[in-house]
Amino acid sequence: MPTPDPAAVPANSPTSEIPYCGHCGEPAASPHPACVARLSLEPPRYCPQCRRRLVVQVLPTGYRARCSAHGDLA
Ligand SMILES: [Zn+2]
Ligand SMILES: [Zn+2]
Repeated sequence: MPTPDPAAVPANSPTSEIPYCGHCGEPAASPHPACVARLSLEPPRYCPQCRRRLVVQVLPTGYRARCSAHGDLA
């Protein structure tokens, strides 16, 4: 198992590393299948870590979603 980037993974990381759904912004203790399907087609709307609204920039190659607290999301 590769060593995760310590900056990206908190030491006491909970079982789920994604507290919020990126599509509907609701708590995502378990993934929302309908939202996951939408997220494969369109950019996320909410930061999965802090639930802030994301600033989404559409690019020729896809899109870039940015959280004001967490910066660019993958
Ligand atoms: Zn959802
Ligand atoms: Zn965030």
